[in-house]
Amino acid sequence: MGVGPEDAAPPTTSDDADPSGSWPAPVGLTAVPRPLLAERQCTRTGCAERAEVTLTYHYGQSQVWLDDLVRERDPHTYDLCDRHARRLSVPHGWHLDDRRFTRAALVAV
Ligand SMILES: [Zn+2]
Repeated sequence: MGVGPEDAAPPTTSDDADPSGSWPAPVGLTAVPRPLLAERQCTRTGCAERAEVTLTYHYGQSQVWLDDLVRERDPHTYDLCDRHARRLSVPHGWHLDDRRFTRAALVAV
């Protein structure tokens, strides 16, 4: 894909800087109780877009996956809006596996 981890130093989106600069964040994010199955928001700071993508990461494997939004939240996942998912870049040495594009590409052009 067009994602190049080599030149993507800070793991933030390119258009709006995340002041925290901490991604992936430590496990144990603020446990905000949200009703399952409800519409969820992008977890990016200051973003109010509807979440459409679930990002999952695994430190040990330096691996990041993007999937269609999952129903249940997990400590190792983030919900991202489509825009932030598209602009996502991973830290150097990490691998990004976008598992939703195979399907989405057929629909969203
Ligand atoms: Zn967003």
